[in-house]
Amino acid sequence: MAAPLTASRLLAILKAEGVKTAEYPDWRTRGRDAATGRPFGPVHMVLNHHTAGSNSLAVVAKNGVAGLPGPLAHIHLAKSGLATMCSAGRANHAGPMAKNAYTSFLNESSTHPAPSKASGTVDGNDVSYGIETENLGNGKDVYPRAQYDAWVRINAAFCREFGWSAESCGCHKETSVEGKIDPKGPVEGYGARGRFDFTPGQFRKDVAERLRHAASWSPSTPAPKPTPTPMPPKPTDSERITALEKRMTALENKES
Ligand SMILES: [Zn+2]
Repeated sequence: MAAPLTASRLLAILKAEGVKTAEYPDWRTRGRDAATGRPFGPVHMVLNHHTAGSNSLAVVAKNGVAGLPGPLAHIHLAKSGLATMCSAGRANHAGPMAKNAYTSFLNESSTHPAPSKASGTVDGNDVSYGIETENLGNGKDVYPRAQYDAWVRINAAFCREFGWSAESCGCHKETSVEGKIDPKGPVEGYGARGRFDFTPGQFRKDVAERLRHAASWSPSTPAPKPTPTPMPPKPTDSERITALEKRMTALENKES
């Protein structure tokens, strides 16, 4: 059980983890409990999403969508890797979570069962931090390297702060009883790894790896490609003629 972080502390742990941050106007107070009047917390997990759109910052941070008042997450993560703080209070991102799936994150199980509505539901907005990561969610839009790296850092920052393992980091599609599919899509690369498809399992492995290091750690990036040996410059016409003349002179001298 953990009480939600203050706005200042939330910002501080992200910065310590090497995340580039920005602050949406009034994020520290606006939206707190406003959606339903319910208090936020205690918190037990991080829930990861894709925005299924572009330029979603204002929608996520403040405006919300029809029937779902903002804020729609605690953090909006742009393609550049910039994390904008949207709320430190209760946010509308998780919806109902299947109890069986939620329990597996609460208990930090090494496996997470498919969400079953029959197991009952809990209000995910009470118990989880929500990260909305900008991506069209069409399975083709790529998560750039900087964005995925920041995403791992954000999740690790929460785990480090609360003493959680990476098994406290879930994805919307792993908990939703509403058929959510997020997040998904190709990732440009991470550390020394090239392009791969986002999976919750790999994401948790990357968070776990990060947690084995200090908050200031950066994963090793691929070795730079060796610079090819430059070709000797092609001789100019006049150089060629000069060389030819020299050879002719040498031959003539031989003959004479
Ligand atoms: Zn979602």
